[in-house]
Amino acid sequence: MIYLDHLASTPLDPLVLEAMLPWMRPDAAGNPHAAHPAGWRAADAIDQARAEVAALVGVQPGEVVFTSGATEANTLALLGGVPAGGGCVVSAVEHASVLGCLPELRRRGHPLAVLPVDCMGRVDPAALDTALSGLPGPALVSVMAANNEVGTVEPLAELAAVAARHGAAMHSDAVQALGTRALDMAAIGLQGLSLSGHKLYGPMGIGALIVRRDFRPVPASPGGGQQRGLRGGTLPTPLCVGLGTACRLARMRRDEDAQRIGRLRDRLWQRLQSRLPGIRRNGGAEGLAGCLNVTIPGIDAADRLLDLPELAIATGSACHSGAGEPSHVLLALGLSAADAHASLRFGLGRGTTAAEVDEAADRLASVLGSAMPSS
Ligand code: PMP
Repeated sequence: MIYLDHLASTPLDPLVLEAMLPWMRPDAAGNPHAAHPAGWRAADAIDQARAEVAALVGVQPGEVVFTSGATEANTLALLGGVPAGGGCVVSAVEHASVLGCLPELRRRGHPLAVLPVDCMGRVDPAALDTALSGLPGPALVSVMAANNEVGTVEPLAELAAVAARHGAAMHSDAVQALGTRALDMAAIGLQGLSLSGHKLYGPMGIGALIVRRDFRPVPASPGGGQQRGLRGGTLPTPLCVGLGTACRLARMRRDEDAQRIGRLRDRLWQRLQSRLPGIRRNGGAEGLAGCLNVTIPGIDAADRLLDLPELAIATGSACHSGAGEPSHVLLALGLSAADAHASLRFGLGRGTTAAEVDEAADRLASVLGSAMPSS
């Protein structure tokens, strides 16, 4: 199997697994919220993990709210974070977990604006300025740090400056950016940020919403009052430890990973171009190091991938694969539905090798070459 779907999910780093295992053993029993030594040990491990998550984005440990993943973090930020009587602005290329909140916000009577993107997938700060000028009262802005389908990196600092001028809070879904890019929330001017364990070589089933002091979303599950009442529920010690370890490794390896993975992505693109004339790239070369999204005009990507079961790559967004709908991101970039269906996303990661990249390009070319129109 050649695994080139790291944007959908990254394999667990062996060091993360090693850090988690002791907390999954029977002798590690202990509710981290309990007042006895077993509970205190678990709570200490979670405190350390919280500090690692915080350090990755330059905030205080107390600003980290663990969630079940980025979907829950985005939902808490959006459904809980839009101010009473205020509006919400998002981009057209947000993940489904953000866009999926809009019908409920509309039902609650919040005015909404969805910003278009250019042909690279970039949001224009001037468009945000116009949208915020048209909204009554305070607002929440949510724009992702980097797109999960085409890898485009958004101009977050410029967008946050516009939001601040309008007195709006700014949240960002940073799930895809954190593995290969430095991101300091204070320097950028973000009040909220979502991240996910399984996009950072950490475990599935855990993520976090970073809630800065000046951002106060209404909790969806106040429950037992854990995590400052922002998200009730017993914290899963092994998962928290795994996420913390993954964040520490990301901080240590991010720059090296970005360089090496970026070189492999360029190699893949060159090889595909030389074997599949007519292939086009979606999103810019300046995007995420691990992302290459291409259109091979005339093919039915989902259909052709059935001939390549040994290759794990995505058609459109992994989250939408199988749904049969053309990717909303590719449509927002201006692609036709036919071209969206003829598109493939490669997600390269920490374990990807040059040999894998070469083999993936060659296998794809041998299967797809015959499917391409001759014109
Ligand atoms: N946002 C983005 C940009 C993503 O790529 C994903 C995962 N596909 C999510 C949010 C959802 O993350 P999770 O799987 O942790 O719910």
